[in-house]
Amino acid sequence: MKFVVDSFGCRSNQAEIQEWIIELEKLGYELTTSPAQAVFGILNTCSVTEKAEKDVRRFVSKAYHNTRIKWLIAGCTVSQDKTVLSHKYKNYFFFDNQEKKRLVQAVCEIFPIDSHMIFHSSFRSRVFLKIQDGCNFRCAFCIVPSLRGKAQSLSKKDITAKVRHYAALGYREVVLTGINLSSYGYDVFPRETLLGMIEEIQHIRGIEIVRLSSLDPRFIKYSFVKELSGFSKVADSFHFSFQSGSDAVIRRMNRGSKSADYLKILAHFRKFFPEANLGADFIVGFPGESEREFQETVKFIQVSPLNYLHVFPFSPRRGTKAAILEPLPAEMVRARALELKELGIQMKLDYRDRCRDKVFTGILIEENPNYALVITRNFLSVRIPPVRGYKKKKLSVRVEGVINENLCEGKIA
Ligand code: SF4
Repeated sequence: MKFVVDSFGCRSNQAEIQEWIIELEKLGYELTTSPAQAVFGILNTCSVTEKAEKDVRRFVSKAYHNTRIKWLIAGCTVSQDKTVLSHKYKNYFFFDNQEKKRLVQAVCEIFPIDSHMIFHSSFRSRVFLKIQDGCNFRCAFCIVPSLRGKAQSLSKKDITAKVRHYAALGYREVVLTGINLSSYGYDVFPRETLLGMIEEIQHIRGIEIVRLSSLDPRFIKYSFVKELSGFSKVADSFHFSFQSGSDAVIRRMNRGSKSADYLKILAHFRKFFPEANLGADFIVGFPGESEREFQETVKFIQVSPLNYLHVFPFSPRRGTKAAILEPLPAEMVRARALELKELGIQMKLDYRDRCRDKVFTGILIEENPNYALVITRNFLSVRIPPVRGYKKKKLSVRVEGVINENLCEGKIA
């Protein structure tokens, strides 16, 4: 029986979707990209911004009126509004963040199958693994702690078992994700650490690359970066949740850091990972953000060694501290977001340009008659001439040109 998937929001949501896919494939269900062939669909939803939530609602409404697929819908938007959604979309199945643990079981009950054949997609080489959920912070703009609860880490034993299983299925890269990944291990006894977990994973046979999703600057010390650089399989790409480069805005966001701390962190990464692709999240148009404060963020980005940006226009989330503050005019927020997005594109192009004539290792993720695609350790997509027999293999590529901000071209080195 075939199914489709879709996901909105963060990498933790993607990680959950991937776990469900792997579980369902093991049970004999088959993933398809063709809605016409699918009997059911699984959607993981996001409420982190107003736009994300609107996109989810639009998606559900369109699916409900235009397809015969029955959707199982999980995640933050459901936690936010389950009663209304279940009432409106009567044939769909809704799982809030507490209930989604039983989603796979629900699929088996609602759409039972006999077959025990394992359909395993052979081209996937990268798997997202959520090792932590929830968050103990209360950033002024963020609804996530209310929807996902306190920080909880998966046990080391469970994580290594999952990674071994993925390695046996042929995955070569594991992306560790969490709602607040950096806090991994703080809630378990005896205390675990993210570094300890990475060390454990990188010894698992078959895994070539361990990539980290967003890191919280409040947890990053010089010693963390130094120790991380000693792990041979850690990917050369790092992402930070900075949110602003203005001290006053960071304080009002209730994030307890300073932009100078951020610059120090970036300097540590540059020292130990000189070629790394460094990126960060920024929210623009936080209530009260003056033109001067916005320009402080722009200046911060310009003097930093960052190579790309994820830009989010502020949107108030009901139930957060920031939701009751006077919002900035929408046009101003849009214009600031656009300015940073354009800056981010230029930064990506500059970084890729500096990568020309350099050699990077990566995994070949796609082979077709016209070209092959390699994702490098520093997270470049490099198109190379067609090759055979390298699928999911580690190889080195020389970057020879930049096609656009998301794609380079090169050849096997
Ligand atoms: S650290 Fe802040 S932004 Fe991140 S999940 Fe926790 S409360 Fe939200």
